[in-house]
Amino acid sequence: MLFNIRMRAAQGGAHEKGGRHISGAERLLPKEELPQTAEAMLTRALTHSKGEADFIRLTVDAVQPQDIKEIPCLTIAQTKCTTVAEAHSEACRLLSEQIRPEAVTHALETLLALPQAMRGAMLVNAVTGERLDTLGDRGVRVSRMGFQDQTAAIANLKKHGYDGIHLQEALVLASKVLSSPDIYGELCISDDPEYVTGYVSYKQTYHRLSPMKPMGSPFGGRIFFVNPTADLNALQTYLEQVTTVVGLPPLPNVKNETSSFTTTPSDTFINQSVQEMRTYKANPSEDKLTDAKASLSIFDDLADELEQLKSTHTYRHLTTYAPQNGAHASASGKDYLMMTTNNYLGLAQSKALREAAQTAVTMYGTGSGGSRLLSGSFPLFSILEKKLAQLKETEKALVFNTGYMANVGIITALMGKKDHILSDALNHASIIDGCRLSRANLHVYQHNDPHHLESLLKTLPSHGRRLIITDGVFSMDGDIAPLPELLDIAQRYDALLMVDDAHATGVIGDGRGTAHHFGLADERLIQVGTLSKAIGAEGGFVCASELLIAYFINKARSFIFSTALTPADIGAAVAAVDLLLTNQAPVKRLQENVMIMAHTLASHGIDVPEKIKQGKLLPNFAPTPIFPIMVGSADKALAIAQALYEEGIILSAIRPPTVAPHTSRLRLTVTADHTAEELKRAAALLGQHL
Ligand SMILES: *Cc1c(COP(=O)(O)O)cnc(C)c1O
Repeated sequence: MLFNIRMRAAQGGAHEKGGRHISGAERLLPKEELPQTAEAMLTRALTHSKGEADFIRLTVDAVQPQDIKEIPCLTIAQTKCTTVAEAHSEACRLLSEQIRPEAVTHALETLLALPQAMRGAMLVNAVTGERLDTLGDRGVRVSRMGFQDQTAAIANLKKHGYDGIHLQEALVLASKVLSSPDIYGELCISDDPEYVTGYVSYKQTYHRLSPMKPMGSPFGGRIFFVNPTADLNALQTYLEQVTTVVGLPPLPNVKNETSSFTTTPSDTFINQSVQEMRTYKANPSEDKLTDAKASLSIFDDLADELEQLKSTHTYRHLTTYAPQNGAHASASGKDYLMMTTNNYLGLAQSKALREAAQTAVTMYGTGSGGSRLLSGSFPLFSILEKKLAQLKETEKALVFNTGYMANVGIITALMGKKDHILSDALNHASIIDGCRLSRANLHVYQHNDPHHLESLLKTLPSHGRRLIITDGVFSMDGDIAPLPELLDIAQRYDALLMVDDAHATGVIGDGRGTAHHFGLADERLIQVGTLSKAIGAEGGFVCASELLIAYFINKARSFIFSTALTPADIGAAVAAVDLLLTNQAPVKRLQENVMIMAHTLASHGIDVPEKIKQGKLLPNFAPTPIFPIMVGSADKALAIAQALYEEGIILSAIRPPTVAPHTSRLRLTVTADHTAEELKRAAALLGQHL
């Protein structure tokens, strides 16, 4: 039994009550796939580039097998043009024979003259291009359709590099439309301002074309070219009410149109796979040709995926800044106040570190020449590792090339398929990647929730190693892990506890990190950190017992198989750790600045975590320099960051997937180098733009 699921979303109330249409989707599915699809549809409605929906209608109804009409799927082909005009004339050419080019042009003009994008399709006379329906920008809808075997169809498309959901849905719709004998062809332009790929379908081919409109244009819609003598009411009923299932997509580039229409869909699939294998054996050069064509479609698909990122305001690009110190950077000759660096103590531009790096280069050169276990361990490494062990009050330390590599290397060394990792829900991406790569059983506990952690541990079998992992100071929220409770649990359940102090070292616990902040030391405790944030250099490290460090040297692949860091990196890091061990002034300055920022933000009515507002050192609270300014939507976060940039302030918009959907934020950080005036100016401007 199949079910039809349909979602319609609008903003400003229901469509009937004047709400603005945001998004619509519909699928025909087996029962098992309903919950997942419902969730995907809701997410789409809530994160659409046209805005967040506040009215969503989701309907589900069962369809009787005898009411379902089976139709074949169109073959995919595609053409990339350089201009919109070129794509439009290509569309005319592809449709020509039954549809006159003047009809295409006339219909396109009608479509683009509408006051807004069309939601459905307009029916036009295939000879004259005259519009036949009178449904305004609503148009005729096409509903009740899906792939006969969704999983196989998607696998078939993916095999040829077609991953996009836009394409899957459009292919099903176009197949249904062309299965009506009264429709000769279709032309479609997406109404998504940032999605410029459209298509024409004609004579069993779904022909992707881009660009069908200029980037950023909100206009679009579908045009169905109709037999001038057709019964329009019957046609509309067919499109809106007859349930159709579409067979498997024929393989692209296989021009075997007749067979795809005379055999059943699954036969087509098998025939074509067999044919593909035969071609491969019999004629390798022809196969190469197919490869070359297929790679075109992959590039197209990659480009589509990037366009989708743009449409959800999660596209990323690089910006160049020339840092001056922790608080200032210049770009295009202009000075900016830097409010988004991890260089918390400003050490990266300090005289002491610059000189130490230069001395190290003079002594040992610019590269290390080998991995640590071969020729790469120049003398500064052992000095740095001794100082790091001293800073973290452990037996030993080991330097990795980055914090990311330390996390991945340590987790994969310790954990395997039979083992169990318990990971905080908000842990850093490098921890998540390490967990995945280890193939251990992963149990995610609710953020900073020792009770939930313990309830998960209770359900685990007694065999296998256990590792609890948490950020010390959370990178996006700036809160601190309840390490004493976590350690107590680790002891009771015979687990190791790994704390990632990337944002804690040089910041809390007199600059020694989370364990020192809570006065903890234990052989179960593995303290990871980075040399590239408050320490102001580059690299990662781990501090732990002698046994564990020996284990990592022998087992951590990211340590073993990568060339050691350079003398400049290690020389600078030695100077920085030395400073942390001997001089508390920079850490004190940082903490004072954190309190100034907390109070100033609060005085501008900007929401800061309760604990900071109170200005007290509660048990799980120490001043951390990370202030998450919650905004919600990704586009708003970007807009505020851009407005502040124009006022000379650099502040980054943090969006999914770095943080959960709808928790986009500005991540504001302070450093020891900021003056009180600078902090107040930044907070005031932020207050104006929020
Ligand atoms: C930055 C960061 C890392 C990665 O450290 P790098 O040295 O930049 O690779 C790891 N964990 C956390 C929590 C981080 O914030």
